[in-house]
Amino acid sequence: MAGTVSEQREPVAPAVGSLARGYLRRRRRADLIEGIGWFSTVLVLALFLADGGASYFSNPRDLPTGLGIVAGLVGSNAVLIMLLLVARIPLLDHAFGTDRTLAAHRWIGRPALVLLLAHAALLIWGYGLVLGTDPLAQGLAMLTSMRDLPQAFAALAAFILVVVTSLVIVRRVVAHEFWYAVHLVAYAAVLLALPHQFSQGGLFAEGTWARWYWLALTVGVLGAVLVFRVVIPLLRNARHRLRVAEVVVEAPGVASVIMTGRRLDRIHGRGGQYSIWRFWSPGLRWEGHPYSLSAAPDGRSFRITVRDLGDDSRRVLSLDPGTRVYFEGPYGVFTTATRTSPDAVLMGAGIGITPVRALAEAMVRVARKVTIILRANEEGQLYLRAEFDALRMHPSVRVIEVVGPPATRVRSWLPDSMADASLATIVPDLPDADVYVCGPATWTDLVIADARSAGLRGRQVHSERFDW
Ligand SMILES: Cc1cc2nc3c(=O)[nH]c(=O)nc-3n(C[C@H](O)[C@H](O)[C@H](O)COP(=O)(O)OP(=O)(O)OC[C@H]3O[C@@H](n4cnc5c(N)ncnc54)[C@H](O)[C@@H]3O)c2cc1C
Repeated sequence: MAGTVSEQREPVAPAVGSLARGYLRRRRRADLIEGIGWFSTVLVLALFLADGGASYFSNPRDLPTGLGIVAGLVGSNAVLIMLLLVARIPLLDHAFGTDRTLAAHRWIGRPALVLLLAHAALLIWGYGLVLGTDPLAQGLAMLTSMRDLPQAFAALAAFILVVVTSLVIVRRVVAHEFWYAVHLVAYAAVLLALPHQFSQGGLFAEGTWARWYWLALTVGVLGAVLVFRVVIPLLRNARHRLRVAEVVVEAPGVASVIMTGRRLDRIHGRGGQYSIWRFWSPGLRWEGHPYSLSAAPDGRSFRITVRDLGDDSRRVLSLDPGTRVYFEGPYGVFTTATRTSPDAVLMGAGIGITPVRALAEAMVRVARKVTIILRANEEGQLYLRAEFDALRMHPSVRVIEVVGPPATRVRSWLPDSMADASLATIVPDLPDADVYVCGPATWTDLVIADARSAGLRGRQVHSERFDW
């Protein structure tokens, strides 16, 4: 049950060799998936060249059209890769973790938009050169008289909106709900753009292999999104019928929500993972929010611990018992599965202690030594403190509380009063450990920088970020 070290068994501490093998397996899987992404880009270019695409580059007048087609192919392929990255396919989630797939999704977004804009601009210019019309007249002619082009322009406008609302500076001012709704438009945009790819692009003309490949790719990607983000969650929710069992106030503005349901032992969640939760209660129905499990799943209940950081999280604190809960997940690689070293250092700050609490429960069963570092500005923010105290009973566990306001004199994750300390001085065996960190973004970055400057390799440092 939530709040105690559950008796569920995990394998005893594996040897360093097996940790290294596990790491290499994950690395190979990640490399393979990355390779498939690049391969799909090369393949679409190869299809273009095999269809006689090189001829566009032998005549300067056809050059803009050739470049426009290439930009459109690579840009559209990139959009499909972006959708695949957010389809929550278990293989991708296990290989990279959501942080990295979301970062890759964001990273591809801007070049993909530039390519699609270039596609439109170069084709307008290129067709104009061939037909002897100026770009404005040519653009209008394409928009009004070419088959399927109005939908394609609408799709382009939708992509512009999606990318612009995702820029950091814009995201700060628009509500998350608005950003989310705009993102849903991207799926409609892919469908809107599809007809012109078949009716206008000679490469995908009827009866060609390229047409079947492109159709299969698009249907496969949209199908993956539908299956993993809609169908499977709906089936799992129908099966498990999760409901709020109890809401326990942990501190002012912080409460734990304990949920029970049917056959929860069939959900293979791990301490440190999160799910997207949607509570069937006024104001909370229409948007799922990510919350980490704050206790390792015990097969009978799930527990999350929520801080009121906004309107919806505030509503979660006063949920009624019996409220129906829909979930997607559990997701994430902030788990024992990604460790590469015999020891573990688990660090949480503020409400970031939630996955740390659940991960600690699993970690004590597999790691040689576990050091838990809890960081808070004041004692009242050491949430779930009694449960961390209970973990001290375990002979391999050390719990260190670091309380004090953020450093002002030096850039450090520690308070000014501990300015001379560092992760290496607090944890003498640091090189033998994996560090898991969750907390505010700046604090997390400072911890990671400290761990890396102490010589830890990238694969030894794991973070869960609450600020997507
Ligand atoms: C992987 C992960 C695990 C998390 N675990 C916990 C946890 O265990 N306990 C906890 O208290 N908080 C957790 N959070 C943070 C929590 O999701 C947000 O505080 C919550 O969604 C805020 O919603 P709001 O409408 O109350 O606030 P708002 O005022 O709408 O937003 C506050 C902040 O939360 C972000 N946010 C809002 N809605 C979402 C959403 N649907 N998805 C992602 N971000 C959103 C906003 O962009 C903004 O930065 C986690 C976040 C992530 C990404």
